[in-house]
Amino acid sequence: MERIDKVKEIIKRLKKLYPDPKLELEFENPFQLLVMAILAAQESDKKVNKTAKELFAELKEPHHFAVLEVDELSERIKHIRWNHHKAELIIKCCKALLELHDGKVPDNVDKLSKLPGVGRKTAHMVVGGAFKKPALITDRHFIRVANRLGLTKETKPQKVEKDIASWLPKEYWLELSLLLIEHGKHICKARNPLCEKCPLTDLCECYLTTHCKEFKTKKTKKVA
Ligand code: SF4
Repeated sequence: MERIDKVKEIIKRLKKLYPDPKLELEFENPFQLLVMAILAAQESDKKVNKTAKELFAELKEPHHFAVLEVDELSERIKHIRWNHHKAELIIKCCKALLELHDGKVPDNVDKLSKLPGVGRKTAHMVVGGAFKKPALITDRHFIRVANRLGLTKETKPQKVEKDIASWLPKEYWLELSLLLIEHGKHICKARNPLCEKCPLTDLCECYLTTHCKEFKTKKTKKVA
């Protein structure tokens, strides 16, 4: 089966499981998602949602953040991992947004990824999540599931993006990203994939080559 046909089939089947796939970050506009995506590095979406709600109750625009001292913002996001570093990045990012884009979040990966604290993965998340434009959101769930299914052999976000973008038409990027992320959270889990509940077994390289069993064996051994 051609890879593109495999992707179409994966999308068709996963849409039945996840009819409305979306990011778990709860944002109201592109700027909020940009700030939250910076906060979300190595942090749970749940914690980011809680912190962001309190943060955005008072601070709504880039210029509100740009005038803050790092210590002040760091204190406001104190429950987030690496709060001081992230506070620094958010303030720098907001200053750059004001200087380069008049305070408006660009809807373009190349422009976004030039902002301080914004890598290509974050840029794709904002472009796909907030603007609904083609985006490959190569978070850890996407990378793991794409690898197991045999859609890529790359494991670094930027290389995964480059590889998949080289053969998959843009019209499938966002839908595939959101569906694989959902699947990674609910069924194709890192340590113990629930292959018995998965509708993709006949399309999955990992399952067909029995490598999935190794993940389960590892977990069983650890527990024992
Ligand atoms: S068959 Fe197992 S490893 Fe493959 S995608 Fe489904 S849950 Fe993941």
